[in-house]
Amino acid sequence: MHDGGPKVDFSGDRGVTSSGSPGACRICGNASGNLAHFPREMMFGWDEAFEYLECRSCGCLQIARIPDDLEKYYPRDAYYSYQRPKEKRQPDWLLRLRHARSRHYLGEASTIGALFGRLSRRPERFEWLRRGRITLDSRIADIGCGSGRLLLKLQRDGFRSLVGADPFIEADIDYGNGVRILKRGIEELEGEFDFVMLHHSFEHMPEPARALRALRRRVVPGGTVLVRIPVSDSLARRKYGVNWVQWDAPRHLYLHTAKSMRRLADDAGFDILEIAHDSSAQQFASSELYVRGVPYVEHGRYKPGNGPRAFSRGQWDAFEREAAELNRRGEGDSACFYLRPR
Ligand SMILES: [Zn+2]
Repeated sequence: MHDGGPKVDFSGDRGVTSSGSPGACRICGNASGNLAHFPREMMFGWDEAFEYLECRSCGCLQIARIPDDLEKYYPRDAYYSYQRPKEKRQPDWLLRLRHARSRHYLGEASTIGALFGRLSRRPERFEWLRRGRITLDSRIADIGCGSGRLLLKLQRDGFRSLVGADPFIEADIDYGNGVRILKRGIEELEGEFDFVMLHHSFEHMPEPARALRALRRRVVPGGTVLVRIPVSDSLARRKYGVNWVQWDAPRHLYLHTAKSMRRLADDAGFDILEIAHDSSAQQFASSELYVRGVPYVEHGRYKPGNGPRAFSRGQWDAFEREAAELNRRGEGDSACFYLRPR
């Protein structure tokens, strides 16, 4: 597919002020001093460039014009989030232990839960949920959930009220265990929820302000919204420019900063409770491979232990250490924004 090297050298990309003006920021309205950038489609290596605007005021990167044929960039046979997960069946005794462990993670005293929790690392999903005021009966929604992999895990963890929504699945899915996935977008979703999550779906939405206002209507007072997104006020974005893996043109329509998210949250009636960075080694490994012109679909085999080695074990460990350090400093390239209705 690729020929081993980038066709155009974009390293050191600082953006250009294109002929005329790149236009006004669709988040904050600023029209002065905005820059244009031209990242390429790199997931499949289609070698097509797209214009993005970088707002000089709020820092948000945004695609200049949403392609009319956006669906073309989400091929159903290749795009990972649509693949239906395998149904896992676990014995009742194991499920009971898992439920006790969940109650323990959610703050309910339980000796069995504490003991079982010690046998494994706390799954990341409980990091997200502990910021909400959650019980196993809380109403939880996952927006842009693909086929609902995370909701199925939560079901096995003992959560009882789980709904997913994704406008791009083929049809509604009822797993028959209480988990339902609806083929619809946030604006068509009905009902009220205690915890609504968007895991790397918000950056794909063409109208983020509208989406946040719709979320505001779906979450109860005292409830929590988690928006997990790539963030462009990050070291990896500065270091790699248009080869930054999370740019993902043209699928990522908006790449926010803390400032642009504050603005959106405020306008929609939310306070930001916390911003927790959760970037990984991938911000370096995949961006380095983009610099070399390797499309994302080929990156899996470059992981340590898989096929050809792009990075030594030592380099990979260094990427992981640097990611952890950046997350501590708030400069990793992805973050969890926890919002609460005002
Ligand atoms: Zn702006």
